[in-house]
Amino acid sequence: MAVKQASLPLFAAFFAAALVGCRSTPEYDHVLTNARVAQFDGDAISFVNVHLALRDGRIAALIPATEALPLASDSTDLTGTFVYPGLVDAHAHFMALGQALETVNLVGTRSWAECVERVRQYVADHPEVAVVRGRGWDQNDWTLDEWPTSVELDALSDKAIVLSRIDGHAVVCNQIALKQSGITAATRIEGGEIITAAGKPTGVLVDNAETLLRIAEPSREEKIRYLQAAERWCIELGLTGVHDAGLPTKDIMLIDSLQRAGGLRMPLYVMVSESPEALDHWLQRGPLETDWISVRSFKFYSDGALGSRGALLRAPYRDRHDHFGLALRDQSYLRTAAARLAKAGWQMNSHAIGDSANHLVLSIYREALGAKTAKPDLRWRVEHAQVVSPEDRKEFGGSLGIVPSVQPTHATSDMDWAPDRLGADRMPHAYAYRSLREANGGWIPLGTDFPIEHPNPMYTILAATARRALDGHPLGGFQTDEALTLDQTILGMTRDAARASFREGQAGEIRLGNWADFTIFDTNLSEIAPMNLPKTQALQVWIHGERRK
Ligand SMILES: [Zn+2]
Repeated sequence: MAVKQASLPLFAAFFAAALVGCRSTPEYDHVLTNARVAQFDGDAISFVNVHLALRDGRIAALIPATEALPLASDSTDLTGTFVYPGLVDAHAHFMALGQALETVNLVGTRSWAECVERVRQYVADHPEVAVVRGRGWDQNDWTLDEWPTSVELDALSDKAIVLSRIDGHAVVCNQIALKQSGITAATRIEGGEIITAAGKPTGVLVDNAETLLRIAEPSREEKIRYLQAAERWCIELGLTGVHDAGLPTKDIMLIDSLQRAGGLRMPLYVMVSESPEALDHWLQRGPLETDWISVRSFKFYSDGALGSRGALLRAPYRDRHDHFGLALRDQSYLRTAAARLAKAGWQMNSHAIGDSANHLVLSIYREALGAKTAKPDLRWRVEHAQVVSPEDRKEFGGSLGIVPSVQPTHATSDMDWAPDRLGADRMPHAYAYRSLREANGGWIPLGTDFPIEHPNPMYTILAATARRALDGHPLGGFQTDEALTLDQTILGMTRDAARASFREGQAGEIRLGNWADFTIFDTNLSEIAPMNLPKTQALQVWIHGERRK
């Protein structure tokens, strides 16, 4: 360095030192040069050529590319790549994704025999686990479309085995798990079903019956492994945030402590799984807000899923004439909880799949939010809003601001069998994302519900815009009058996801003061043919000013 040269005249040394002093305190931590940065104007996305200057994890300046580079401690040349606000999954199960990655994966199995084989292999490879867990079976994908039974599992292990259906709304377990939990053919539970054959439980428990299981929970170490596995995969796929649709308080506190210790660095908007105790606890304690977690909402279930015929319908199932589905919670319980949350200023988010469940939730929301004591702008969400009668759509948006929160890949996953459940007359009421977005005043948060669906946000874009499955069917798309545009879909995973979690001014757009959360692609996504989207990968991922991919 010049200052170290002894022969340097005094005044030159002084100026050199001043220059070094100036350079050692640059204005910014990092500058991303030659970026093509997405900017939102209404429903349209355009790109501006700028240098992005970052400080303390946030966007500190957007400098026109024609101007000189500012002083920064570090710089990255983005070579004209396309910078989107970080993509966020607005409805998913983060912990469950990690659990699915670390336990028996049954997604994509073509038969019950294949599931049993995967469990057998896992049992042989993992003698250390106390309970054999798995997830992802779906009898709709099997050649023999029937509930599985415990018989084959009973031969595999003397430990409890519990395997969740892909939608989480049913499990199949072995007789040891049933015995440990005291479940018999005579056991009854509101909002749930214990499937029996020849006077014995078969091992299948539907909806609320799952809560009867009394088996050892995963340990703290196992849960930390789940969380970190989920974080790695989400970042790999380009996600910079996730709304977790329901965790118990102790898991939320584990996440918070892990984040404070730097062991988990994924921004999470976590809904508390409702219970009378959880409501008492959190309303007393108040919301939890850090740079990494936000807890100010509760998750309720009003019905089950359509696949397992648990969704609550106004008219019977087309393929089970005496059956309307399952109500998972007593109406008066939901009404009382809604009134408390409206008064306390918390967000209420309710799972509603069937048209009857949606009608009920909307009427409960309307009553609670319309009360004089209700706090304003609570953005109560209806999660899934899957089958909504056209006359109920007008309850979204408006002065009460009720938000539909949808998952486009559900449309393409369900489209082959949903008509069996609903019949042709009700199909236009289902997966009506464009209509729901319009009813909501032109915005809609989008998610995947992973691990029920794949967490890849590119699959969401394909399903929302082309309304086609990964294998390309149907060629013309499914009910395409309910498709979203590409820009509307990206907004749903950025700006609208932020708004649904009270994060506008923090995330969801690339503007001054927001967190430096970016998902970067080498192409403008609008130039990718729909069927090439699943192969498209994020080039870089930045979270809170740090490059993570
Ligand atoms: Zn969910």
